[in-house]
Amino acid sequence: MQAEIIAVGTEILLGQVVDTNSAFIARELAGAGIEVYYHSLVGDNADRLTGVVKQARSRSDLVVISGGLGPTKDDLTKQTVAHLLGVKLVENEAAMTKIKNHFATTGKPLTPNNRLQALYLAGSQPLKNSTGMAVGAFYQAPDDEADMLLLPGPPSEMQPMMTHEAVPALRAAYQRHEYLTSRVLRFFGIGESQLTTKLGDLIEHQTNPTIASYAKRNEVTLRLTASTTGSAEAQTLLDQMTATIKERVGDYLYGYGDDNSLANVVVQRLIDQHLTITGAESLTAGEFQSTIGSIPGVSAVFPGGFVTYANRAKHDLLGIPQRIIDNDGVVSEATAKEMAERSRKLLDTDLALSFTGVAGPDSLEGQPAGTVWLGLAQRGQAPQAKLMHFAGTRGDIRMRSVLTGLDWLRR
Ligand code: ATP
Ligand code: MG
Repeated sequence: MQAEIIAVGTEILLGQVVDTNSAFIARELAGAGIEVYYHSLVGDNADRLTGVVKQARSRSDLVVISGGLGPTKDDLTKQTVAHLLGVKLVENEAAMTKIKNHFATTGKPLTPNNRLQALYLAGSQPLKNSTGMAVGAFYQAPDDEADMLLLPGPPSEMQPMMTHEAVPALRAAYQRHEYLTSRVLRFFGIGESQLTTKLGDLIEHQTNPTIASYAKRNEVTLRLTASTTGSAEAQTLLDQMTATIKERVGDYLYGYGDDNSLANVVVQRLIDQHLTITGAESLTAGEFQSTIGSIPGVSAVFPGGFVTYANRAKHDLLGIPQRIIDNDGVVSEATAKEMAERSRKLLDTDLALSFTGVAGPDSLEGQPAGTVWLGLAQRGQAPQAKLMHFAGTRGDIRMRSVLTGLDWLRR
């Protein structure tokens, strides 16, 4: 079963509108176990549309088209496809009633081109448009020819039609009873190549669930996808694979889900454990505090903190003794510990993180860019510090510092 998707519209071709429809349709098809092999894009032009549809039908089992079902002159998808298939366009009664009612209530005159929106391919299954007028169509071609799925262009109309009308029709037509269920595992502190090496045999022999890795900026995610007929069965498969992966690289696994982040996981945990936190930041200049500040609910655990960029601020705001600054330097274990412990005491929090280092591009105190000391103070314990060496731009070094600090809190 091979499908392909065609987006129709000159405004998309010219880059005035971004083709989000094809991405949405592709995900829905994948969910129904239908593989997508090609995406194409064509303007509102009958000849070129005919050419693209012909090519698509010559190599795919199902061709999905979005756009051009409307009432205006440039909307010619239905007419073009009908001509190509040699079938007529017929009126859908339900759609026509809806159009008539709409014009009756708004008091506007019903023009002939509005009737166009109720037309669909003869012999196809009409697809209801719950948020607009133009009716969609699922046409099952005779013999071995490609089937056609016609959807409206506006995403607000296309999406509900695809999900609630088209997908069930496709599942029924192609006997697809399997559902795909995904789980995203998020890792920090391990590179994609190292992760996939450690999971090499699992990835190589993957069947159900499948395992796909993605390297994002500063983290790696794994998407596990199970194909089952029931959701309990899917959860069991995903749980088993998650457990196996955890045995090998569980140390680096910080959370789950598409929209999760390290900051989110850490802040949620602090909230759950009723632990308050502050920060004293030199090279990151508030980026740590800004990052946790972006998580809703953080006010319960974060009273505020310190940005102590220059030596004077470290001394005047936090009270770091001048002798430590002079003897050890600010990029040092001693300064990192002092910053953490003194900020923690000043705001009487359970925890405090400190950041002091060289963001670059120039070196500082004879230490190269990327040299960063992180400090962690915990109530009732001696402060700790650790030395990191980060590569990259100034922005990378500051970002890595913040994330490494968050990861330290998580552990
Ligand atoms: P209408 O009845 O609104 O004319 P239609 O089915 O004829 O609907 P088009 O005229 O092709 O659809 O597109 C209408 C609008 O929908 C476009 O101007 C654009 O904003 C949006 N649209 C169309 N195709 C896409 C797409 N592939 N991705 C995102 N948006 C799209
Ligand atoms: Mg239109």
